[in-house]
Amino acid sequence: MSIPVKFLDLKGINLQYESELIEAFHRVLHSGWFIKGKELEQFEKDFATYCGVKHCIGVANGLDALILIIEAYKTMGIFKDGDEIIVPSNTYIASVLAISRNNLVPVLAEPDEATFNLDPLEVERLITPRTRAVLAVHLYGQTADMSPLKDICANHHLKLIEDAAQSQGAKYKGIRAGALGDAAGFSFYPGKNLGALGDAGAITTNDDQLAEVILALHNYGSKVKYENLYPGVNSRLDELQAALLGVKLSHLDDENAKRNLVAQQYLAEICNPLIQLPVAASYGEHIWHIFAIRLKNGLRDRFKDYLADQGVQTVVHYPIPPHKQQAYKELNHLVYPVSEAIHNDVISLPMSPVMLPEEIKRVIQVCNDFQN
Ligand SMILES: *Cc1c(COP(=O)(O)O)cnc(C)c1O
Repeated sequence: MSIPVKFLDLKGINLQYESELIEAFHRVLHSGWFIKGKELEQFEKDFATYCGVKHCIGVANGLDALILIIEAYKTMGIFKDGDEIIVPSNTYIASVLAISRNNLVPVLAEPDEATFNLDPLEVERLITPRTRAVLAVHLYGQTADMSPLKDICANHHLKLIEDAAQSQGAKYKGIRAGALGDAAGFSFYPGKNLGALGDAGAITTNDDQLAEVILALHNYGSKVKYENLYPGVNSRLDELQAALLGVKLSHLDDENAKRNLVAQQYLAEICNPLIQLPVAASYGEHIWHIFAIRLKNGLRDRFKDYLADQGVQTVVHYPIPPHKQQAYKELNHLVYPVSEAIHNDVISLPMSPVMLPEEIKRVIQVCNDFQN
């Protein structure tokens, strides 16, 4: 019998650190302090240092991180209702929601086919007098090509925001995601490369003023308890998740290196003319949150069923692009051929730092055996 292969063994990933995680839990339990305390302070300091930025602010999840960045720029008078933000058309829905929930307008840009990330030429083409920012999503664990995007944003006085939800630890020209723009939103959803044991997120920035506004906004608009500067929200990263994330952060580089070994083996040994492998651009370090391959000619769904029959779990990231979602009826008439082709072709192979050599071999064998 051939061995089954899970898409992502979350239990196995976290059980590697069972004793450290239990110790962190005990520390929080015995402190008797659960919100905005020493654990959060330590994690924020450690994650800021890790990314190479001045400020890290823990929040409740990745979507809130992105929403709060945009809301803070509105609070500062830099963005207003109806302003436009350019965002890739093939991103996860959260990037688009962060814009529209702030009453700004998402302007969808076709991605670069090779990297699945923003194409700077396309971004430049979409700039209008109402454009205020570019939201660069580092999709699947690889950063966007940030130097040209930085130049475009500087020339047009736009903010450059990173959606770094899939790229904890990824680098661009030696600099980490989170330090590549004016501000970045991270998710620590359990399935991300740096995953909590529940929901969590963070914002990183070098902008002192932005950090100060976000620090208030995410905690009822308050800096001093019971004094409210803004009509804020409650979106905090609690002590327990912060303590658990501290443990996970200390192993992140090691885990990303293990994912890279899996990816390098896939890239070297999957050899099937029906399968198009992903490209790791030479400008950076891909952290392989997702190993997305493409199957052309409408073969994707048949390939997915075939892998399932062989006991290999896969996921499609993502089956429906944002502009085709019911949630965005006003965008449904738009046509994005590059993005739509990606959504039709793409499928993600099992990828994790705890895959066994025989599991990796099995995925490769099944991919190579697939026939039209
Ligand atoms: C996961 C993710 C988010 C949202 O993170 P949550 O913590 O689930 O709110 C945002 N953007 C991208 C690209 C993501 O993959």
